[in-house]
This record gives sequence, structure tokens and C-alpha cells, in this order.
Amino acid sequence: MASGETGSMRFDNYMEGEWIGGDSRVENVNPSDTRDVIGQAARSGAADLDRAIDAAHAAAPGWASSTPQQRFDILDAVGTEILARKDELGRLLSREEGKTLAEGIGEAMRAGQIFKFFAGEAVRLPGERLSSIRPGVEVDMRREPVGVIGLITPWNFPIAIPAWKVAPALAYGNTVVLKPAELVPGCAWALAEILSRSGLPRGVFNLVGGRGSELGPRMIENPKVRAISFTGSVPTGRGIAAACGQHLKKVQLEMGGKNPLVVLDDADLDVAVGAALNGAFFSTGQRCTASSRLVVGENIHDRFVSALTEKLQALVVGDALDPKTQMGPVVDEKQLEQNLAYVEIAGQEGGKLAFGGDRLTLDKPGFYMAPALFTETANDMRINREEVFGPVASVVRVKDYDEALAVANDTEFGLSSGICTTSLKHASDFKAKSQAGMVMVNLPTAGVDYNVPFGGTKASSFGSREQGRYAVEFYTTVKTAYTQP
Ligand code: NAD
Repeated sequence: MASGETGSMRFDNYMEGEWIGGDSRVENVNPSDTRDVIGQAARSGAADLDRAIDAAHAAAPGWASSTPQQRFDILDAVGTEILARKDELGRLLSREEGKTLAEGIGEAMRAGQIFKFFAGEAVRLPGERLSSIRPGVEVDMRREPVGVIGLITPWNFPIAIPAWKVAPALAYGNTVVLKPAELVPGCAWALAEILSRSGLPRGVFNLVGGRGSELGPRMIENPKVRAISFTGSVPTGRGIAAACGQHLKKVQLEMGGKNPLVVLDDADLDVAVGAALNGAFFSTGQRCTASSRLVVGENIHDRFVSALTEKLQALVVGDALDPKTQMGPVVDEKQLEQNLAYVEIAGQEGGKLAFGGDRLTLDKPGFYMAPALFTETANDMRINREEVFGPVASVVRVKDYDEALAVANDTEFGLSSGICTTSLKHASDFKAKSQAGMVMVNLPTAGVDYNVPFGGTKASSFGSREQGRYAVEFYTTVKTAYTQP
């Protein structure tokens, strides 16, 4: 398991109820200060993955027949511990991922709330009974566990996303193998460590770190894994969907976004600017629900751009762990280079850089950049078609609501969308016609509740929804039982 003080933590893998070291190790580096090596994470290969899957497979029948009360007790206790340790877990999260301390603690708290929510769901497992069309026959529909579920998670929500996959999987009686993103092994390890002491039988929960390109395909090919829940980028998701199709495996994908925030001429300016600032730049823009396209009415355009620019000038970029910081670093050098490349592309395409967009040199070596705002962009430019996944937003000027709606929907993605308006008519119409899985009125496109479904349309999502009661669709299978008493 993990041991050691700051700088020397070991983030081992967990399988069959044991901590194991993996084939090799990768450094976990703090993006706010690259001199700070948080620890060493286990990188496993095929043999460890197969062992974890075997363990989950062996544990599946026992866990499937555990009582709802047993599942409630374990998940509730896990939630209680996460909530009690939210400051410490949030700190680890911010240190390895780079979101601000407040955001890190908020995310840790969210993970605890999710475990508590699904503890409750474990004792509310729904079933249904219908009248048979035949006399004297009873028919009922029951939900059963799927079996072993492979969970593949990204780096940008290092504890909340594992939580919102692990908790429902366990609540509905499945066993799991979690493969987290290699950039953020600490939070996955911390979650595993809590689960390892929770009373879960051996093999029910397993953690394997390693390269996604190696472990992912192997996980999908293994016939013992019955379903894959993935969150990450569209290209990786497409490959997973194709492979799962070939292996006839249940699959759920949550992927990228190019989320529009519409600001109509009648919007409350403060509300709109607040929503844009939060939606586009908080968490360093590294949210699948980030408001990367700001679709703004021509009469409010100049006031909106100048007020948002003023906010960006005042935004404090710095070390994630510094309480004064309002925007932390980018997660790593590769992502920072990608962000800067898009700033370049947007400029070449004719976008006007209204603010930021450059790499920042602060008093410590880290992956810092100034938030970037482009104006005078057209919706067909690459900056408005492709997900940047950083603190980069662009303004598209529109003449009226109809054009705003058309621009908002003109994208291959459909995760989240927002509108700022004081018109009930336009708000209602937008909620009905926006081609997104989540629609926000006078709110940022990012920032959701854990007790309701999460997911998108078009290239943003595939399969049934995550979170809330709707998670039952993915994590159970339905059996129809007929009885002639
Ligand atoms: P990524 O696709 O590079 O990696 C995601 C996970 O997939 C990682 O664990 C990675 O190791 C693994 N992986 C890589 N190659 C694989 C393969 N061939 N087979 C199976 N697994 C493989 O994504 P990322 O860079 O970690 O995360 C950023 C992306 O995640 C963005 O596109 C963002 O929009 C998306 N995201 C979506 C949501 C959502 O709910 N819609 C939430 C958060 C992040």
C-alpha cells in the first residue's frame, strides 16, 4: 500500500484484498511546482490486470447475494470517512491535479455525498410487477447485478468520477476493476485505501494503474468483464465503443464537450459575466462541461466582453494550494502545449485575442497560463469546433435568439449548454430545443447536482446516463420472471 511522508508516497495497486507494487513506477508530479514529486505510482501490465479481473470475477457471486443492508452500511461508512477527511483529500487532489484548494475540497466532499447517495439507493433497488396476459400467471421484473465492471476514468475529476462509477457499481451488487488516469494516482489510491478498510469482501473492489492504451483493450477483451464505464476523450471513447461492440459488451461513455453559453441582449450582465467566468475558467477550464463557446447578442456584446475581460485581469493565477489562487495550473506540459497551440490557431483563423493566452512564469516552476478570451470568432473556426480542454473561451457574436440557438446547436458535441436571459419565453424555448443532455438557465454550464442524471447527446455521450437514480440502468440488468403458482 502507500507509505511515507510528503514526497515519498507510494501509490500501489489493490487487488484480491492485497496491495501490490506493479511492474514499474511512475512519478506523480505537482503541476503547481514540478520540483514537488508527490510520490511514485504503480504501473501494472497485463498480468496484474488479469489478476484483478480474476479476483473481481471470483468475488462476484458472493457480492451479488449480499444484502442491501450490508451494501448500505459499507457505502455509507465510506461516504462518512471521505466527508470527515475532505480537507486532507481535497489537498491531495489539488496538489496532484492543480485545481484550487476550494475546488479540490469541494470535489472530495462531492465524492463523499455520492457514496452516501448510493448507500441509500442500495436499499431502494426498484422492481416492477405487471399483470400477465395469461390467467393465473404472475410476472415480475427484477434488477440484477451485471457482474464484473471495468471502470476507466480521466484525470480532471480524480476522486468524484471514480466515486460516481464505483459507488453505484457496488450498490447494485457488481464487482469492479478501476483503472484511473496515470496523472492522478493519489486520489484513486486514497479511495482504494478507504474501501480496503470498509468491510468489502476480498476482490469486490480492485485498483490497477497503468497505461490506458495497454490495459484498456485487454480489459475489454477479457470475457469476465461484462461492462465498461468510461469517461475521457472522444477518440479514446470511439475506440472503446467499437471494441465493446465487437465483444458484445455493455458500454457507457462520457466524453468531451464544446459547450455553448448563450448571453441574450436582455440578460442580467452580472449574472452572465459570472456564469461565463465560472463556466469557462474555473478548474482551469479543465471540465468537460466548460463554457468554451460564448454566444453573445450584438447589443450586449461590448459590455459583456469588457466586463469579462476586467474579471480576467483580476483573476489570480497561481499555486493550487495557495488560498489566494483563483485559477490553478494546467495539469501537465502536454495539455499546456495543446492549449497554447489552440491560442495560436485561433489567432491565425482571425480571432482577436481580447485577453491572456500566454504561458506565465511564476515564482515556482509549474504549468501556468493566463486565461485566454477570443472575440470576433465564427462558429466554423477550429477554436469553436474542437475541444481545447483548457482556460480558453471564444465569443461568437449573434444578432438574435434564433441565431444564438442555431449556433449553440451547431456542434458535434451535446454535453451541456446554458442561456443567460430574463425572458421566460426564450429560456423555455432553449430548454426544449438545445441539443444537450444538460441545460442551464442563468447558471454556468458546469456545476451539477449529484442526485440527478449526468450526461450528454451526440458525440459527448454514449449509452445510459450516469448518476442519480438513472445509474441503475447501466449497473443492473433486467430479468423478467414468470410464475404459475
Ligand atoms: P483520455 O481519453 O486520454 O483518457 C481517459 C482514460 O482512458 C484514462 O484512464 C486513460 O488511461 C484511458 N485510456 C487511454 N487510452 C485508452 C484505450 N486505448 N483504451 C482504454 N482506455 C484508454 O482522457 P483524459 O485526457 O484523461 O481526460 C480528458 C477528457 O475527458 C476530455 O475530453 C474531457 O472532456 C473528458 N471528460 C468527460 C467527462 C464527462 O463526464 N463527459 C468528464 C470529465 C472528463
